[in-house]
Amino acid sequence: MIIGRFAPSPTGILHLGNLRTALASWLSARSKGGRWIIRMEDVDGPRCRREFGEQQLKDLAAMGMESDSPVIWQSDRGDAYREAIHTLHGLNRLYPCHCTRKDLQKLSSAPHEEDGLRPYPNLCRHRPWEGLEAALRFRLTDGAMDWADLALGPQYDDPSTLTGDPLLFRRDGMFAYHLAVVVDDGFQGVTEIVRGMDLRGVTATQIQLQEALSVPRPAYAHLGLVTAPDGCRLGKRAGALGLEALRQRGIGTDEIIGWLGRSLGCIDHIEPCTINELTQHFQWSKVPIGKVALPESWS
Ligand SMILES: [Zn+2]
Repeated sequence: MIIGRFAPSPTGILHLGNLRTALASWLSARSKGGRWIIRMEDVDGPRCRREFGEQQLKDLAAMGMESDSPVIWQSDRGDAYREAIHTLHGLNRLYPCHCTRKDLQKLSSAPHEEDGLRPYPNLCRHRPWEGLEAALRFRLTDGAMDWADLALGPQYDDPSTLTGDPLLFRRDGMFAYHLAVVVDDGFQGVTEIVRGMDLRGVTATQIQLQEALSVPRPAYAHLGLVTAPDGCRLGKRAGALGLEALRQRGIGTDEIIGWLGRSLGCIDHIEPCTINELTQHFQWSKVPIGKVALPESWS
């Protein structure tokens, strides 16, 4: 059974790029008769707000996408993350890191172009355990590895050059993104992860973490980002590109679904439709790989 998921951070409204990812994950699961779930990734501190998450769920429902299981909020899952930290510690895969943001900025080279990542140079790898007030990092296995992408095809990555040893537990007592994602995908039995190209570069790192925690490896698909009509990042304009903002400008949900469906290779022409009408036409081989520019009239 395919189990797909969409896992937004509740830090604002869902813009068209987020909605495109959500729809692709929904279509991919539904076109194979699978289940689809939503998870709220709200571990990453003060920018996450419950009301943003509630609004995101409403917008997804307005398009016809509802979670088949009760929505999990990662801020409720501390016990599970703590247990995973104990497991990894028992396997000797964690080490304490005392680097400050300043230390890392001084040392790091230019950000990785493609993914906007700055690999951690594994400075503290051999630091002895001293106290409990340190952040914790996961020790990656060195070397490149293969993984497959439903949209991009076979991939070959060296996670140490992309992310370096990832932070799993922060000095302020918060669990970090990589840990929460891997633990919850395992807990929820997710078999298929569809997300934006900005996360492609962390995939090999997360696969290593899955292997350490004995979580089965899901299938991955990374989608090109939605850009402004001129090909530039959406940036601040993204805020004006939510479902409600577009609706107020007279662009209906069915029109938005039509545009998204066309951008995912389901239909040849943009026409108002429902997500159910797109299901039978969805195929990864037809999904364009590159970035997608917004229509001039919407931006
Ligand atoms: Zn360090």
